[in-house]
Amino acid sequence: MISIALDGPSGAGKSTVAKKCAERFGFRYVDTGAIYRTIGLAAFNRGIDTKNSAAVVSMLPELDIDLSYNESGEQRMILNGSDVSEEIRSPEISMCASNVSAIAAVRDYLTDMQRNMAKKYDVIMDGRDIGTVILPNADVKVFLTASADARAARRYKELIKKGREISFNEVLSDMKLRDEQDTKRAAAPLKAAEDAVYLDTSDMSFDESVDAVAKLIIEKTGRVPVMER
Ligand code: C5P
Repeated sequence: MISIALDGPSGAGKSTVAKKCAERFGFRYVDTGAIYRTIGLAAFNRGIDTKNSAAVVSMLPELDIDLSYNESGEQRMILNGSDVSEEIRSPEISMCASNVSAIAAVRDYLTDMQRNMAKKYDVIMDGRDIGTVILPNADVKVFLTASADARAARRYKELIKKGREISFNEVLSDMKLRDEQDTKRAAAPLKAAEDAVYLDTSDMSFDESVDAVAKLIIEKTGRVPVMER
């Protein structure tokens, strides 16, 4: 099995690059942020303070989290039988996800789910700790980043397109707060693995970012794309 680890801060373009590369090489795209978001949503819906580790941890046995794929190969998050894939995308839930993801017991609870995907399929997995903790032996490790302004501008565009009412400054400050929390936490903080290739996409177009990651995949795994753009 081939595994590609794609880590980096929010808004660096990980999910769009990963989706496109998964399509090109016939890999399964695993969005691990969506799993933390699902736990954040479950806590939020129960009125639990997502910074309260004991309360979040005691909720875990009530959760049945399933990661499934629809006919178009898109990842869906199923929480206790309901598809929550859209609900988990709101800015409030982004922060809840960041809060619950700082709890070591939450990370442990999700480790096997993520590793099992990589045992069964060729994967391109995006997150914060894929190259450092989840798949330390990944065939390719990429740390994808961009300036805070470039990342916030991309996230802002996405949210506006979805009809969300939010200002650019709100997006920028939420993103900085989340990055700081993700980078400074003790449990599996956001950082590049020592053997990761660092890719700054601030001045790159979407296609250039995809091509750069695809090139690394070809060089390091010998795989050739099954599908061209
Ligand atoms: O990638 P996304 O922005 O959807 O992730 C939401 C949050 O989940 C991140 O801010 C981070 O706190 C957490 N996360 C994590 N480890 C991962 C993926 C996401 O801690 N592998």
